[in-house]
Parts: sequence; C-alpha cells; structure tokens
Amino acid sequence: MAVTTLRTVTATADHVPAQAPGAGPAGVVLDASATTHCRRRIHLDHDPSAAAGPQALPDPSSAQRLADAAEHRVRIGAHLGRVAGAGWRAVPTDAPDRVAATAAAVAAGAPLIWGAVLPRSIPTAPPGPPSDPPPAVPGLPGGARRGGAELLVRLPDGGYVPVIVVRHRVTDPGSGALTSSLPETDPRRAVTDPARRPRTQTRDLMRLAHLHRMLEDAGWAARPGEPFGRHGGVVGLDADVVVWHDLAAEHWPGPRSTLAEYDARFADRVAVATAAATGAPALARPSRVMECRRCPWWPTCEAELAREQDISLVVRGDAATALRAAGITTVARLAALHPSAEPPVPMAGVSFPDLVALARAWQRGLMVVRRVPSVAVRRADVEVDVDMESFGESGAYLWGALLTRPGGTLPGDEPDGYRGFATWEPVPTLDEARSFAAFWTWLIGVRDRAAATGRTFAAYCYNEQAENRWLLASARRFAGRPGIPDVAEVEAFIADDRWIDLFAVVGEWFLCAHGKGLKRIAPAAGFAWRDLEAGGENSMRWYRDAVGMDDAAPDPTQRGRLLEYNADDVAATRALREWMTSPAIEEVPLAADL
Ligand code: SF4
Repeated sequence: MAVTTLRTVTATADHVPAQAPGAGPAGVVLDASATTHCRRRIHLDHDPSAAAGPQALPDPSSAQRLADAAEHRVRIGAHLGRVAGAGWRAVPTDAPDRVAATAAAVAAGAPLIWGAVLPRSIPTAPPGPPSDPPPAVPGLPGGARRGGAELLVRLPDGGYVPVIVVRHRVTDPGSGALTSSLPETDPRRAVTDPARRPRTQTRDLMRLAHLHRMLEDAGWAARPGEPFGRHGGVVGLDADVVVWHDLAAEHWPGPRSTLAEYDARFADRVAVATAAATGAPALARPSRVMECRRCPWWPTCEAELAREQDISLVVRGDAATALRAAGITTVARLAALHPSAEPPVPMAGVSFPDLVALARAWQRGLMVVRRVPSVAVRRADVEVDVDMESFGESGAYLWGALLTRPGGTLPGDEPDGYRGFATWEPVPTLDEARSFAAFWTWLIGVRDRAAATGRTFAAYCYNEQAENRWLLASARRFAGRPGIPDVAEVEAFIADDRWIDLFAVVGEWFLCAHGKGLKRIAPAAGFAWRDLEAGGENSMRWYRDAVGMDDAAPDPTQRGRLLEYNADDVAATRALREWMTSPAIEEVPLAADL
C-alpha cells in the first residue's frame, strides 16, 4: 500500500546523515550509494517538489537489514579493537564532531582509525577525463562527496586506505582473491588466496572508490606510487579476511579502472541531482528496473509509468533501451507492431514476437498467455515438490517437501503429504547440518524406494538457483557430518533430469506480463496461499521471531506460520504442474491469437 509521506532523512550506510532535498550553497552532496542507485531515484531524492508525491511505506525488512548490518559492523569493530593494541583509535559514534575527531586521529598518525567520517569534499579533477563524460549543467555549482569508512589503515608514507565492513559474502570458493586474514588489516601482508576468489559487488567497489577520492580530497590518501596506495578492503559476512581490491586495476569494460568508472558515475549523478535540485530539465526519467521493487519512490514512478504506458512495464534491460532508442517508448506502440515483421532494432537474446505478445497481453490485463500450444512437463509415479527457506546468507533453516504418488501407493509406503525439515536454532548453527541431512536422507530414500519398486520418480522446485545453491553449500559446509552427502552426489542429483525446475518450464511455455514469480503465476492455476501476508520479505521477520533473535523468546506461533507458508509454496508448485498437464491449460490464450 502506498501513502503520501514526507521524505524521511535517514542515516546511510556511510553513517552520515543524508541531505534534505534541494541543493546547498556548495551544490548537491552525494554519498557513494548515489553511484549505484537508479538515476531517477537520484533525481527524486533531490527534487524539492517530489517530496509531496506518493512514496511507499517504510519497509520493515529494509530497516531490519540496515540494523543487522550495523550490528555486524559493531561486532567486527569490537573484535578488531580488542586485538589491535595501541595503534587502534576509534571515533566515538556520539562524538559531537566526528569529522574533527577523525582529522585529529589522522594528524596523530594513528595506524588504524575505526568509524572514520571524512570531510565533505568538493571533488578535485580526477586524473584523466572520464571516457563517457556526463552532460554538463551550465552555471550550476558542482557536487560534493560525503561518507565514512569503517576502518582507515595507515601506510608507511602516512597516507590511508579504506576498509569497509559489509553483511554479504565477498568471496566464493576458488582462488585468486587478495586477502589478509583478520585481525591482519595491512594490505602489504595480503596474499593471493588459494581457497577464495572475489565475489565482487559493484556497490562495494564504488564505495571504496568514493572513499579513496575523499581521502585524496582531504590530503589523507597515500602518495602516487605508494604500494597498495590505491587499494581498498572489504570485510564480509564471514568476517575472517579482508578482501583487497586494486581500484586502479582495469576491472570495467573499456577497459577502465574502478576509479575511472566511479568518476564517470559520480559526475553523472551530480549532474542529475543538480538539475533536479535547481528545477532544470530532468536528466533522468523513470524506467522499471529491479531496484523498483524496494525503492521508496515506486508509487510515484508507477503512476507515471502507467500514465505513459511506458515500455519498461513489459520489457526490461537492454531490450527496453534499444526499443526506446528506436522510438518505441510505450506499450501501445510495441503492441501495434506486427510480431512477424522485422524488429525496429536488432534484438539480441530476446524474441521480438514474444515482446509484441507481452505488450498485447499487458493491454488486455492477461496474467499469462501461452507462447506455444504445449510443453511437455515430466510427471512420475512418485513426485516430490521441494522448497527451501533461508535466512539471508546465514543458512537454510527449512527444507520443505510435499510427497504425492499419482502412480498409487504400495504396501509399506509412508503416507503422502508435507514434511518440513527444520532447525529452529538461529542460523548459522551446526544444527542446520542435522536438518539438512534429515531432508537429504529422506529425499534420496523416497527416490531409491521408487526405483526399487519399479516406479518412476521426479522432484520439482520453482527457480532452482536458490535450492541448488543451498544444496551445494550445505554439502560443502557440513562435509563429513552424519548424513551429509558429498558434493559430487549433490551435483549428480542437480544434473539428473528428474530434478525439474518449473520456473524454466513456465519460461519456455508462457509469457507472463506481470512477472514469472510463483506468487504471480500460481494463482493462474487456481492456487491461493492461506496467509495473505505470505512472501519472502515477511518470512524474514517471522523467522526472527520464530527463533528468538533480538533477545526475544522464540515464538512457536511464527514457527507454525513459516511451516504453513512453506507447505503452501510446495502445494503451489504441485498445483502449477498439475494445471499445466490438465485440459484447463487449453483455456489460456495463445500469443499468436492476440
Ligand atoms: S521506483 Fe524505480 S524508476 Fe523510480 S526511482 Fe525507484 S528505482 Fe528508479
């Protein structure tokens, strides 16, 4: 539900209060997140007239994520502070002037400065022009940077490099990451890690580049040529190493370095924000992207997109950009094209007839249409629908399975129905090994008994990425514990054509004008969740209560709610595949008939 609210000014990931809409005397002031947010969001954040428009209600799960991230940072800081000794200097979060406190620590030559807040800085000209200069706004003041680093590490020449602490994974199994094992935070002692490769996140790199430029602006960065002077470090969720990134390395297409990529983005966002703040013609317009799902401005943008029937309502990414450039800016214009005609622009990786059909389906309010008359959906004598629930990156706490036997039961068969294999100890916990082992042993037992009794078997999920990821991760993390399969066994299961991803089937068979998520598509099969609030984000809150996070007592009601939600998810995939293999599917309009 959307309401009209005034824009709330919140602490950012850099722990620095955000700027109110409009431009200050020195122009707009941006933090690092501006370089990774949607450009229209930057516009709306700085347009004083936008504050009266509708915004989404504050999202409790976003607030929770921020709180969890803050707690993670505090925990890491406390640990490092305990072991660092005399070289440690922490800037108190309640210091009346944190910038001044940081400056004092720098002036004193503190080797490690925790909780640093850097001086707001007007960018100095970066070395070398950006390869794609943004449009200038003549006569308007330039933008300034604001931000802070969890940790500043002093190099021998007296300059500092930034280290940030984040609550997501920053490495994957593999090799090649440059890491120093905590509590070691000196990049000169980093080594090429034989067991990790970097899992690089754009937002992390942009924040490190932003901080590096701020250090340069303040005169606190290392001298040019100082070894590791242009590096930045990230401590992730596991908090066992610092992963070091060379910000001068050519990591981006072009090729260009992270610093060059940041400079181009920052200059562009300054231009967008400045135009918005001063009432100049807008440099960014709304276009539906992934970020919209959690963006507070969605009610404002949704109304504008719907009013204009914007093309992005049915086409995303590069295809939308290409069509827009060709003048196909609305759903109506796309729907009016002939699907078998030559596309107005080359369409790489997408079917032009599908896009036209999607536009026509959207105009008629159809949730799904069939791309093709039929697609084979594998069925079996013994069927299991599987759904896993995880809590962020911390662990998979529930594996749910719905057993059905369209081929009939045999003497000695266990009853059909739902089973939930859960741990209610807060993840990460070793008890997750027990619940995963119980699930795997049960699933493979059902499969093997089907084979032993001459029956066929199939297992289903919806969007296998999540299930496969946690199947493999569980086998790796709990290797050697009772009932845990080895990775090769899990890989063989995943590769088996009896493990069926219904999301892929839906993608092959249907066009879904409003998304392919299970919550969107299962109602077309007549399925409804019992809990009207069922959803991934809400389940995170229920989980916290269920296991008693936040110093509260565990809430058995929320455990029941999670089990019911999970049971409904697997019932939904079952309903979906039964619908897809029933005569009712003939009632779904064919794209060619639209
Ligand atoms: S709702 Fe979407 S288009 Fe609008 S500002 Fe947010 S991310 Fe950008």
